[in-house]
Amino acid sequence: MKNLTLENIARVCGGTYYGPADKLQEEVMSVITDSRKAEEGCLFVPIVGERVDAHKFIPQVMEAGALATLSERVLDNADFPYIAVESSLQAVKDIAEFYLKQLQIPVVGITGSVGKTSTKEVIASVLNQKYHTLKTQGNFNNELGLPLTVFRLRDGDEIAVLEMGISDFGEMTRLAQIARPDTCVITNIGTCHLENLGDRNGVLKAKTEIFKFLRPDGHIVLNGDDDKLITVKEYEKIKPVFFGMSNECQVYGDKVVSRGLKGMTCTIHLGDTAFTVDIPMPGRHMVYNALAAAAVGNIYGLTTEQIKAGIESLEPISGRFRMIETDKFLIVDDCYNANPMSMKASLDVLQDGAGRRIAVLGDMGELGENEVQLHEEVGEHAGKCDIDVLICTGKLCRNMAERAQRTNPDLKVIYEPDRESLLEHLEGYVQDGDTILVKASHFMKFEEVVTKLENM
Ligand code: ATP
Ligand code: MG
Repeated sequence: MKNLTLENIARVCGGTYYGPADKLQEEVMSVITDSRKAEEGCLFVPIVGERVDAHKFIPQVMEAGALATLSERVLDNADFPYIAVESSLQAVKDIAEFYLKQLQIPVVGITGSVGKTSTKEVIASVLNQKYHTLKTQGNFNNELGLPLTVFRLRDGDEIAVLEMGISDFGEMTRLAQIARPDTCVITNIGTCHLENLGDRNGVLKAKTEIFKFLRPDGHIVLNGDDDKLITVKEYEKIKPVFFGMSNECQVYGDKVVSRGLKGMTCTIHLGDTAFTVDIPMPGRHMVYNALAAAAVGNIYGLTTEQIKAGIESLEPISGRFRMIETDKFLIVDDCYNANPMSMKASLDVLQDGAGRRIAVLGDMGELGENEVQLHEEVGEHAGKCDIDVLICTGKLCRNMAERAQRTNPDLKVIYEPDRESLLEHLEGYVQDGDTILVKASHFMKFEEVVTKLENM
């Protein structure tokens, strides 16, 4: 890995090197925190977690051929090179920051309350039409996930698309310091992590910390239909590029047509040109994600043909609106995560399903003191949607169920106190030909609901 010699690593993380002097100029081949991924020439970073202290894996990692390890303690009688550091977690961030700087490639950083992963996937799919693009795998978007993503970069990668997720003030500053994006994308300002951030103004403040390390000739790409984001007029003379559905945005979409659960078609206007795209994923929100990708593609000099091809070749991701067709049902596996904004968006899309339309929804977590009200709001929305059955599961979802029923007394609303009881009764609620949306916060483990439906 470029310039990641043991000497440089020790220096950038303020550590002390112990080991033979002739190894100091050797570059590590990879940086890992998971001992099972140990390989020849790697650097091991043992993280002290809540349950496991990874220092105990140091011997086996060295046995597997690691070049060196970090360690938060002095290792007596070590017969291998190691770098003593105060905190492995801090060190991993320092090393990632240094490494990314060595590579000198453009970085697109993506944050926002909802749609980061989806937007990241479309942006990467677009940029990949022109550049060798590395993107965050899955949801590796926090203070450990971001460095681990950076360490996957190699010579030959031409651009990095990095998801950056936070739940508190100050976190984004630390992530931005590592990524130093030259393009910052913010999808929207919603109501996640209000337990730390207070209200949407707090969310805006925390997310826009991403600008602090924006490169001087950088770009800002914002959702122009978000009432908080449009208040960002400029940052250090950089004016944002807005995307949205109105022609006041530099990049805007219109003629939006749903192709049901197959996806969306829309026209994208980019400067003087306009082109039609078939987005292979459903939901009006996907139009926004595609618009963000068009804006970023444009910044990096892609042609409209390349942008269109990138959007149209997007691959579905497990847990995020993935369609699963079984002999009996069409399951919409959206169980990876949920918050009020994304729940409403998914319910909107469900309305386009064939057969009976069933929403199996579970509790949403981390909503702060307004959690009851926010569940009620989703219930009200569900009550207004053209769906056939609403199954609400979990303590907080009782509020959703009640409000939905009050909003629409004709809607069939079922309440289940927990996942176990839902799984027990589920078979009785569904029938052949149904389209079934499955969605809840991650802790509800609704992937078990998806599996159960798949095996019916
Ligand atoms: P996390 O905080 O878990 O990383 P995320 O911000 O990465 O979430 P995604 O995983 O991309 O968000 O999307 C979560 C859900 O939100 C999707 O399944 C979809 O239903 C919905 N969604 C995706 N994009 C948007 C958007 N731009 N606006 C509103 N909802 C969206
Ligand atoms: Mg994500």
